[in-house]
Amino acid sequence: MHTNTTLVINWHLTEACNYSCRYCYAKWDEAASSRELIRDPEKTEALLAELYRFFAPGNAGNPLRGMMRWKNVRLNLAGGEPLLHHRRLPEVIREARALGFEASLITNASRLTGEMVAGLAPHLTWLGISLDSASATTNRAIGRANRHGNLLDLETLAEVLDAARCVHPQLKLKLNTVVNKLNADEDLSPLITRLAPDKWKVLRMLPMVTNELAVSDEDFNGFVARHQHFATILCAEDNQEMRDSYLMVDPCGRFFQNGQQEVGQGYIYSQPITEVGAAKAFGDISFDPDRFCARYPLSAKGASK
Ligand code: SF4
Repeated sequence: MHTNTTLVINWHLTEACNYSCRYCYAKWDEAASSRELIRDPEKTEALLAELYRFFAPGNAGNPLRGMMRWKNVRLNLAGGEPLLHHRRLPEVIREARALGFEASLITNASRLTGEMVAGLAPHLTWLGISLDSASATTNRAIGRANRHGNLLDLETLAEVLDAARCVHPQLKLKLNTVVNKLNADEDLSPLITRLAPDKWKVLRMLPMVTNELAVSDEDFNGFVARHQHFATILCAEDNQEMRDSYLMVDPCGRFFQNGQQEVGQGYIYSQPITEVGAAKAFGDISFDPDRFCARYPLSAKGASK
């Protein structure tokens, strides 16, 4: 039996993004965007309530209870780029917290302002930023630029994150880096030192949609080895460790999981959670508690990250 402090549910509330990373697996279908639940406050509320009812630590009927125990449930707001809906987020986070969730956010930070972070940070346990490179050339080549060609200004980001920690000193900062062919040789040490995250997740590019920027075992391991002086915060995830280890809900309110084998196989989706109930929908997809718990080991203080 695994014991884990926090069960994390990733709600990918939109597939839309203002960046166009070449490896990105959130492919925006404009027709699908009209079905995004985030646009409908009542449907959003119903989804959150059903998710919390099903995953609440006290729900003895949750099938995961036979394999693991958890004390908290965290709703991680992800995308696409969730800050494209920044006007809706304060209300969504407030509702989630009122139900009993902890809340966190993962963003590309392109629209993260000091004012926004001052409003959101006090309600978040974790703030995650996706960052692949400190080089403008590399970021541009990856596609981490908006349609006007604007890149994230890393010094401005550092100042915004400093401000976030000022307003909420308990806020934990996480960086996500996708190792791909274009950044595999880079040394990100100065950037990581400047931003001083509590956790740095280093993910191997997952060839879901394309393997154009895929890296070899040697390149991925080389990137991780080059940054071993961050071993206390660095969590490396190879493709196999990612499979079935995330609890993910799509913009339309369905559980989804990566297809099992081939590039371009795409995703497997459940029936809509609010239509059939979370229990039935959860039965439609696979989830591996062993891999999940391996990603969120208990820290020395007993807190999962
Ligand atoms: S920032 Fe994230 S969601 Fe946006 S294109 Fe890049 S990988 Fe996709």
